[in-house]
Amino acid sequence: MPLTESHLANWRQLVGAANVLTAKEDLIPYSMDGTASLQQMPGCVVLATSTQQVSAILKQANETGVPVVTRGSGTGLSGGSVPVPGCVVLCLVKMDKILELDQENLTILVEAGVTTLQVADAAAAVGLLYPPDPGSMKISTIGGNVAENSGGLRGLKYGVTRNYVMGLEIVLPNGEIMFTGNKCVKDVAGFSLKDLFVGSEGTLGVITKVLLRLIPKPAARKTLIATYDDMSKAAQTVSDIIAAKIIPCTLEFLDRTTIGCVEDFAKVGLPLDCEALLLMESDGHPAAVADEAKKMEEVAKANGALAVRVAKDEAEGVRLATARRSAFSALARVAPTTILEDATVPRSELAKMIRFVENVAKKYRLRIGTFGHMGDGNLHPTFLTDERNHEEMHRVEQAFAEIFEEAVRLGGTITGEHGIGIAKKSFLPKFAGEAQMRVMRELRRVLDPASILNPGKMF
Ligand SMILES: Cc1cc2nc3c(=O)[nH]c(=O)nc-3n(C[C@H](O)[C@H](O)[C@H](O)COP(=O)(O)OP(=O)(O)OC[C@H]3O[C@@H](n4cnc5c(N)ncnc54)[C@H](O)[C@@H]3O)c2cc1C
Repeated sequence: MPLTESHLANWRQLVGAANVLTAKEDLIPYSMDGTASLQQMPGCVVLATSTQQVSAILKQANETGVPVVTRGSGTGLSGGSVPVPGCVVLCLVKMDKILELDQENLTILVEAGVTTLQVADAAAAVGLLYPPDPGSMKISTIGGNVAENSGGLRGLKYGVTRNYVMGLEIVLPNGEIMFTGNKCVKDVAGFSLKDLFVGSEGTLGVITKVLLRLIPKPAARKTLIATYDDMSKAAQTVSDIIAAKIIPCTLEFLDRTTIGCVEDFAKVGLPLDCEALLLMESDGHPAAVADEAKKMEEVAKANGALAVRVAKDEAEGVRLATARRSAFSALARVAPTTILEDATVPRSELAKMIRFVENVAKKYRLRIGTFGHMGDGNLHPTFLTDERNHEEMHRVEQAFAEIFEEAVRLGGTITGEHGIGIAKKSFLPKFAGEAQMRVMRELRRVLDPASILNPGKMF
């Protein structure tokens, strides 16, 4: 059944008229997310402020067959929160309360619309750390982070969002409210259902509250940058650092194109006379940090680094890491359309994958900037293109297909952190295989028999 006046009247009564958007100019910002070239107008947008409201909206949508696209801040990079025709976009940014910070159990309970930065700041204020730090953390929501299982610059040492989720309040498509997980470090009672919802991309339920694990803030941190005349030397440095049994919190790289764009954007004094830049960060006990930083400097020099610079204090370290976080925004300024991917390979295959991406860019005559989480094998080849140029867009699509195939051939994956959404839907069956696809479809059918949640996404 399509969205009707009666739905809108009910929802206006439920959440207040100001929180139900129907005017074209109000809907346009919700017709896209951070993914290039994807746009669809929704039927309406509802800004919920409580779990009970989410439950009532889902119940009516489910009974009447209206599609629901859950949305946080819309920064997703695979089209996950792009509307489907005639849907209600259920936006959770107004569910933005930090409900409890428990310093005895080292947990924080927040509503799904709280931003990642708000969580990080609340933890830091009491000497704790929330490690996942996606580049979008100033605006991305915790609900979106959980739904995408987002990673960040500290993933190498601290893992990704999943490693910090202890509990979730979820509203199922029929409106039922369930809490899965708790503050216990150990809990093996039944299936680990919360893990099913991490990375489910808004297809299985709506996450309304998140219980997160925090850790003590490391006492010291040191940041270094090393520059190279050849990307493969940077890749070898990463391999040698890990082989030396050092797990720094951050090992990020930028190629020449990206370094130029970032410096132009962030003006932090990055060296421009190099082909590759490695950002390395160690944190922990001051003595261990000093030792790790020294060893990383030695490994970088042994691999032919042109220069190694140690940040003079924490403030400079933060500036350098922030500059790296701005890489996507910096690249986005130089071309009308920026398409960023996140093919991921085992660390040992990184140098091969980087060379492959460079050759593909040459083969298809495309402009590309590559940066990413080198320590995780997670690359972000970013095509600088123009969606109005159909012939070039065709070459971009061919290039991406080859990159994904190569990543899988090398034992990697088609997405390390951005999810499947619409953008990579066609690649999933080949990657996952028949049995996994069938299990995923069956799980989805059991939880959402009327197919109202994010229909057409993922598979
Ligand atoms: C500049 C930039 C840098 C980025 N850097 C990183 C990075 O370093 N690492 C990384 O992993 N990602 C990164 N991203 C991608 C993106 O920010 C993350 O995927 C983020 O977690 C999305 O959060 P959001 O609140 O914007 O969610 P949205 O984009 O609104 O939604 C994303 C998906 O989650 C679903 N969803 C959202 N909220 C809920 C909920 N409460 N319940 C159920 N489903 C929900 C949506 O339906 C959709 O499928 C970056 C994006 C940008 C634009």
